[in-house]
Amino acid sequence: MLNSFTGLIETLKPSDSGDSIADVLPGKACVSCGRLTSDYTEFKCPKCGKTTIIRCLHCREIGNRYICKECGFEGP
Ligand SMILES: [Zn+2]
Ligand SMILES: [Zn+2]
Repeated sequence: MLNSFTGLIETLKPSDSGDSIADVLPGKACVSCGRLTSDYTEFKCPKCGKTTIIRCLHCREIGNRYICKECGFEGP
């Protein structure tokens, strides 16, 4: 059973081009809700520019807050 499942994924996968790793990864963790997401926005902290803020689509829609780990900047 496990083998046939793996085989299915292999079939669905596009040919390995080297960039395919990004498709395999589940995404990144949203800094607001902590969930792994593939629909996210990534940007540097507007205050210190040191941390990369990952925000999922959901948190953007509801205006969830994020806090920069480096400088403590809070905002959407
Ligand atoms: Zn989120
Ligand atoms: Zn910051």
